[in-house]
Amino acid sequence: MMTSQETRADTSPFRASVLTLYPEMFPGALGVSLAGRALGEGAWSLETLQIRDFAHDKHRSVDDTPAGGGAGMVMRADVLARAIDHASPEGDDRPRLLMSPRGKPLTQARVRELAAGPGVTILCGRFEGVDQRLIEARGLEEVSIGDYILSGGEPAALVLLDAVVRLLPGVMGNQASGDEESFEGGLLEHPHYTRPQEFEGRAIPEVLTSGNHAKIATWRRAEAERLTAERRPDLLPAAGQPVTK
Ligand code: SAH
Repeated sequence: MMTSQETRADTSPFRASVLTLYPEMFPGALGVSLAGRALGEGAWSLETLQIRDFAHDKHRSVDDTPAGGGAGMVMRADVLARAIDHASPEGDDRPRLLMSPRGKPLTQARVRELAAGPGVTILCGRFEGVDQRLIEARGLEEVSIGDYILSGGEPAALVLLDAVVRLLPGVMGNQASGDEESFEGGLLEHPHYTRPQEFEGRAIPEVLTSGNHAKIATWRRAEAERLTAERRPDLLPAAGQPVTK
């Protein structure tokens, strides 16, 4: 029987399948610290597929020259389709993502949605990108990690998975710290301080050592609003804040 994927099924771990020409780049940064421990404990799983294994010709070529001419190479639709169909066969309800600078910029809201789902299949582009027909035929969701160009989708996939995995149940020791991060309330986070009480002549703001929790909360909120207005005024409307200059 099919079960609803609206909320994370506590029992089935989040499954990530990554299609890449460089499987040796994984788990990479995701093999250490919180994500690495969670991977070891089975809180999520990671499968990498070498795209080249799905090439048919004797040179195992995965790319060809762009139709219409121009510089660079384009990844072939037929080879990629075989790889995707293997990793994500019909009935697999995990979203199929293509890391792409043309995609929708990744947000914490999308990261939360992905973390609540069964997993992801991620295609990492290389060269000039992938044949448009593959994107359409396999319903790929293009996701960007920012307005700059990487040499390949692998670092972008690592970024996306890092953001998702830390939200999986049991991955972060202190769940509360996940709820107070920048963006979670629509604002950038307030500044942090810790011992020593004085550092190179700079003291910790007095309110933070006052023990007055209401005052501390008010100060933090005000700092978050001030920083957001200063650095990211574009976030204010979504955070329910008036945009003033
Ligand atoms: N010619 C393309 C860039 C290709 S970069 C263009 O101008 O749009 C090669 C691959 O790196 C892309 O296919 C994509 O998978 C990945 N990539 C590059 N920049 C990225 C970004 N900002 N976000 C996500 N993936 C990116």
